[in-house]
Amino acid sequence: MNHSSETGPSEFDFDDPSLKAALELHHGLARQGPGSAATTRRLLSLAQPIPSRPRVLDLGCGPGPAALLLAQEAQAEVTAIDLYPRFLDELRAAAEQAVVAERITPENRSMDDLPYPDGSFDLVWSEAAAYNIGFDTALRSWRRLLAPEGVLVVTELGWLTGTPHSEAREFWDAVYPPRTTAENVAIATAAGYTVVATYLLPDEDWFAEYYTSLEARIAGIDPGDALALEAAGHLRREIGLRRAHGADYGYVGYVLRPRG
Ligand code: SAM
Repeated sequence: MNHSSETGPSEFDFDDPSLKAALELHHGLARQGPGSAATTRRLLSLAQPIPSRPRVLDLGCGPGPAALLLAQEAQAEVTAIDLYPRFLDELRAAAEQAVVAERITPENRSMDDLPYPDGSFDLVWSEAAAYNIGFDTALRSWRRLLAPEGVLVVTELGWLTGTPHSEAREFWDAVYPPRTTAENVAIATAAGYTVVATYLLPDEDWFAEYYTSLEARIAGIDPGDALALEAAGHLRREIGLRRAHGADYGYVGYVLRPRG
């Protein structure tokens, strides 16, 4: 995960050689953050009741693991947005392959500038991506997009203990300062939602489809590729930290219904 929140979303320069090298490591992976099909299904079941063939907005969809599953299993009509065009190309190809291309509309835009009318979606969905604009901003700005009975499902990194190991605190505070689940529940409540459920993603959601694939990529880096090695260094640290102190932090799914 590139959790850097130091620059605004529109300030990404995809021609920047360091960013290019980091993104190169991520191409072709099934997902770009912790998650799994089982977790998406679990969150979908916690979001019930929702209309059949729901209108879904997947924000920061990446290569589209959630968009694909929701189109396939909930017959959803999905608008899938991401800032990075190559992930959308990967989603298009996967959607063709899964014969759900007519139900998925990939759009290259930022999650902080959404041109859709109020009440356009039954489900607003975002796995491992709200951090790009910050959990608070995301919750406040996405609320208007929900239809009256709509549901927001968002997964967010957070502390699972009030006393995380100093290495974990140092690492995450530098890239995206996490909060506890209780703090995030309070933020959701203050932003006008009822918290229907929270769900802690299992540890295997970090590895099976994400870190394990990244580690294989890292192992294959050309030793002469300094930029790739530099990008890999940060990822190696992140993965090592998970192995050492993973009990201190996790990704939590929040299932939220607007109040009033
Ligand atoms: N949801 C996907 C998944 O679970 O695999 C991707 C998660 S990845 C950790 C975060 C995604 O957010 C990336 O695909 C990245 O390109 C995208 N992103 C970053 N900033 C964004 C923005 N401002 N608007 C839309 N997407 C953004």
